[in-house]
Amino acid sequence: MPTFEEARKLILERVAPLGRERVPVSAAAGRVLSEDLRAPWDMPRWDNSAMDGYAVRSADCTGPAALRISGSRAAGDPAAPRVSPGAAVRIMTGSPIPEGCDAVVPFEQAVEDGELVRIAEPVIPRANVRFRGEDVKTGDLVVPAGTVLRPPEIGMLASFGRAFVPVYRKASVALLSTGDELVELGEPLPAGRIINSNSVSLAAAVEEAGAVPVLLGIAPDDKRRLREKIEEGLRADALITSAGVSAGDRDFVREVLDDLSVTPVFWKVESRPGHPLAFGVKDGKPVFSLPGNPVSSLVTFEVFARPALLKMMGHADPVKPLVKAVLKEPVRKKAGRVHFFRVRIAVEGGEYVAWTSGDQSTGILKTMILANGIAVLPAEKTVFESGEKVDVILLYRSGMLR
Ligand code: AMP
Ligand code: MG
Repeated sequence: MPTFEEARKLILERVAPLGRERVPVSAAAGRVLSEDLRAPWDMPRWDNSAMDGYAVRSADCTGPAALRISGSRAAGDPAAPRVSPGAAVRIMTGSPIPEGCDAVVPFEQAVEDGELVRIAEPVIPRANVRFRGEDVKTGDLVVPAGTVLRPPEIGMLASFGRAFVPVYRKASVALLSTGDELVELGEPLPAGRIINSNSVSLAAAVEEAGAVPVLLGIAPDDKRRLREKIEEGLRADALITSAGVSAGDRDFVREVLDDLSVTPVFWKVESRPGHPLAFGVKDGKPVFSLPGNPVSSLVTFEVFARPALLKMMGHADPVKPLVKAVLKEPVRKKAGRVHFFRVRIAVEGGEYVAWTSGDQSTGILKTMILANGIAVLPAEKTVFESGEKVDVILLYRSGMLR
């Protein structure tokens, strides 16, 4: 039985980035760049003014100076003609520096006097000039492939004229809930039955990862019906099933996957939750059989399925880094397996601190709602004192760190 790190490695080794597509740069936020972006030209493209003021020759301004104003340039105008000694040009921020000039004197440090501009203080060469290529030089690697595009990358792509950008395709993820007890949301709910909430929560998790959920609905605990649904699910880029993967009398998921030539990679991980959790592949497509318990399915999605989906969508770093958090209360667990503990994280004095979010039984979804982190508690350790540091996978979104 693999440990949680081994299991994740086995999964990540078996998936690869999907194809690529081109999308408008305005729709590319959150997507992953599939080709290196190299600068097609210097940025800025020409020496330009960092201030509204006068372009001057610094050699004319070694002491108090009076320069003839030979022209005026607004933003967007081409550069003024060559400026001769003793002259200055009024220019605005971003305007090209005219040939002959090597510095800009801001309006605040100059006094206009008819045709003249008077400058009291000496001006050093390059003052208030943004030089060609000082940001990025032609050919520089600006955004490597595998980068998630955020507003600054989007801005850089746009400023290099890229109206369309090459990105990795989003993964389509088929979601199938199994179990005779399930009814679909919105259907009548007879006694003894429960609403299929996993399809909906997993769909939200898939979307949050940037992938596209494909809802297959419910398959009852019946091999034929299960087979039909799973065959349909294998048309997506990935398949995630929930429940029916334990050793119960009616847990047919693994058997049906076998029948459909899905190669099993492992069944059960040395973690809690993670018992049971099956993983297999068919034609390069990952198939995750997650436990049915709503908490377990979300936690195992986060730990095992999400990194695989990110890798398929081109992320260079699909695994979230662990952060250290100081426990604010003692925690106990059994020896033998890694436990994923639902925790509430806050920041105190610039450090993460953690409380358990309450009852850790896998039946308690409330503690998943209260959690904004998952503590990864090592297999053999059983007692964690208040004040000890533990590893945490952060789950919070903005606004959740109070
Ligand atoms: P199982 O893995 O089939 O033993 O299911 C474990 C628990 O999860 C049971 O209490 C199920 O009723 C519950 N469960 C299974 N599937 C779902 C689902 N799709 N939505 C909500 N709860 C579920
Ligand atoms: Mg079941």
